[in-house]
Amino acid sequence: MSAGSLCDLPGHVLAGMIRAGEATASDLAGSVLRRIQEVDDRLHAFLLVTSEMAREQAAAADVRFRAGEDLPGVAGIPVALKDVLTTRGIRTTAGSKILEPYIPPYDSTAWARLKAAGAVLVGKTNCDEFAMGSSNENSAFGPVRNPWNLDTVPGGSSGGSAAAVAAGEAVWGLGTDTGGSVRQPASLCGVVGLKPTYGRISRYGLIAFASSLDHVGTLTRTVRDAAVLLSAIAGHDPLDATSLPEPASDYARALDDGVRGLRIGVVEEWLAMDGVQPGVRDRVREGIDRLERLGASVDSATLPHADYALSAYYLIAPAECSSNLARYDGVRYGYRTQEARDSVELNKKTRGEGFGDEVKRRIMLGTYSLSAGYYDAYYGQAQKVRTLVIRDYQEAFERFDLLVGPTSPTTAFRLGEKTEDPLAMYLSDVFTIPSDRSGTPAISIPCGLSDGLPVGFQIMGKLTDEATVLRAAHALEQDLAFSARPPLLEELGASA
Ligand code: GLN
Repeated sequence: MSAGSLCDLPGHVLAGMIRAGEATASDLAGSVLRRIQEVDDRLHAFLLVTSEMAREQAAAADVRFRAGEDLPGVAGIPVALKDVLTTRGIRTTAGSKILEPYIPPYDSTAWARLKAAGAVLVGKTNCDEFAMGSSNENSAFGPVRNPWNLDTVPGGSSGGSAAAVAAGEAVWGLGTDTGGSVRQPASLCGVVGLKPTYGRISRYGLIAFASSLDHVGTLTRTVRDAAVLLSAIAGHDPLDATSLPEPASDYARALDDGVRGLRIGVVEEWLAMDGVQPGVRDRVREGIDRLERLGASVDSATLPHADYALSAYYLIAPAECSSNLARYDGVRYGYRTQEARDSVELNKKTRGEGFGDEVKRRIMLGTYSLSAGYYDAYYGQAQKVRTLVIRDYQEAFERFDLLVGPTSPTTAFRLGEKTEDPLAMYLSDVFTIPSDRSGTPAISIPCGLSDGLPVGFQIMGKLTDEATVLRAAHALEQDLAFSARPPLLEELGASA
């Protein structure tokens, strides 16, 4: 038994089944671990599968259920964590060789909250090195493949979590989104990816890439699951100075309220942009028509500076990364070169051997743009663009409750297709980067297929207004009733 297994059901359905005694957390963990065994040699979504721990945690959740404890909706649900989130006592790599061997002495807040609520860790997922990339091909441990077509990429940098959720290797995944790394892989893998407001989920224990842009986000198969998972991990954390002050709320509460009366703005310049695949444009337009039929009032919106957000991002993110990654010096953490005459050589050789090409490219770009004489022209200018992008959103949100458009200009591309051309790769995030700049919440949901590959529909909301984003996403998801499954799973079903 494989396709149609427990591991293919949405988390909120599974939570109900566990409560009703129709399944146990142990059955579910077993189903997920079997699926990993069946498909992960082809997908390579995991860097580490924590099978034993998953079985133990599932058994412990079952004991608590049997004792009649009133556990939250995440209890017993198998979760995969992007390997940039620290897990106490469990190897964490950030997709890099430079951290090897690193066994964190502490848990990231997002995982600590899930663990306390009884969730089950199935493993740490593959990702681009230090979350820098859009295809997962920058992982030091080899790429992830997309379950919809094994010759294509799953997107990045949270490609492992997205592929795992799409293939039933986990029910839920956590990822991070600095320029699109939750929403873009969600789009390419046909799952739901939510990037909440900056500060909504604590960054404590998230291995930093660009701290002013880093967000933890969720990967799930339904919007309701995204709401339940967010409710479990959001809320103020004194360990993160940028954490929002409010406690978590129940983001699933207003999911069924529909879109009637909501004012939705279509970012027309994105749909018109060169390089947007016709199939992506068509599916997104169909989604917009559906929202209108469901009672939303739809009109054209504009984000005139969003185009510049991409260039500004590739100055600010590398600048922050050059500072954040300075700590990997061969002395304090992880990898150290075998032989060095002095500390300068030790530092140079360790970093030269330990970091991959993309990370080095970013460190050099960042160091350059921060250096005396260039700072104002590059970093300073980029910060001004950031302000313009924030203003664009503020102005648009005076007229609209939500903005919509594609998540990514294309569906999944072929492995190797963009590795030699960093600029083409960077363009994958042209529609996701702006909401990281402004810190506003945004979600990608699957809105159909183009040539057999999933297309993502992006819904962006006002600062701290995840509730409206989720509500509209849920309404569209119900109307679309997207039920296609990756061919890989259909094959398993056929042979089951
Ligand atoms: N693809 C973008 C980059 O390479 C975004 C990465 C991310 O969101 N972590 O930087």
